Amino acid sequence: MTSIQPETSAPGLRAAVAKLPAYVAGKSAESGLTAALASNESHFAPLPSVVALISAEAGRIHRYPSMGAVEARDAIARHHGVSADEIAAGPGSSGVLQQIISAVCDHGDEVVFAWRSFEAYPILVTVAGAVPVPVPLLENEHHDLEAMNAAITDRTRLVLLCSPNNPTGVSIEADALEQFLRSVPPRVLVVLDEAYIEYQRGPGLDALDLYRRYPNLCILRTFSKAYGLAGLRIGYAIARPALADGLRRTAIPFGVNRMAQAAAVASLAAEDEILARTNAVAEERTRVVAALRSFGWVVPDSQANFYWLRASDELRDQLLTALSDAGILARGYAGDGVRITLADRDTNDRVLAVLSARERFADQ
Ligand code: PMP
Repeated sequence: MTSIQPETSAPGLRAAVAKLPAYVAGKSAESGLTAALASNESHFAPLPSVVALISAEAGRIHRYPSMGAVEARDAIARHHGVSADEIAAGPGSSGVLQQIISAVCDHGDEVVFAWRSFEAYPILVTVAGAVPVPVPLLENEHHDLEAMNAAITDRTRLVLLCSPNNPTGVSIEADALEQFLRSVPPRVLVVLDEAYIEYQRGPGLDALDLYRRYPNLCILRTFSKAYGLAGLRIGYAIARPALADGLRRTAIPFGVNRMAQAAAVASLAAEDEILARTNAVAEERTRVVAALRSFGWVVPDSQANFYWLRASDELRDQLLTALSDAGILARGYAGDGVRITLADRDTNDRVLAVLSARERFADQ
């Protein structure tokens, strides 16, 4: 066998792409560890009604799916009380976000987002040839909306807000968001990424109400988290018809497969079952966060299906090792901390057992 030599004249990558950090996916159940708590997946098995529909669709995969995901968009639109022409679906909400960036950003345009937040943001922005403008979170882990507003320039086309924020779990407050929307120039698109919104309890904000009042607001949702369809890939944007139309034009043809489309429709029809599941997670969240605080950990109020321990790299490594020794996979972030996904009570208790000995670990 001849080995392939690097060619100096071979087709190269764009410089921006060559320098990109890889998206680090949380390792999954295949890692061999018994508790995969690194990817914010739903720990519940897929709903039987959804599995039955997917099986039926499997017999039709020699045919292309609906190009415009018509039935799924109709069901999503009915669910939110908007029209189907305000919905654009894509392969996961990260797929939709890629469509949004390529629909609104020219080369060199700026995209403002909080940091740390969802790690795909800087990657997707850079791939599109746009410029990431990360704005550090406040010390209390909230978005620094004032600083984000101040970071807007003539080149800013897009602001990405994440609520509840991944990986900190902290939600943006209604008044703060309204004030932000009032001050952002109307030519700047504001995307509110609500990937974890189904886990929000308490007052929260009504994104649909704001969407009706602020035409430059776009809401991003996914079926990957609370609906448990991470492996199928479907998410969507709610946006003014002209923008939603633009997003559909930037989509890969037939990018949302037919099983994902059918599963989305079936999942929306199973709202009660989904609510029972998110209620169970929210109850566990209250219990686990209270226990962690009683052990002496500083844990921000999470509104998502995970919680956050800010940590030095030393503490992060200690935590990941101790958890891994107990068969638990969590997600560490260099320079920032550790994120742990909530699961069933027994699994959460295994995490608590590791973290109960606060004195074993470095300061937070
Ligand atoms: N937004 C946020 C905040 C996320 O955490 C994720 C998944 N980690 C996504 C979007 C993308 O999810 P998906 O592409 O599976 O819809």
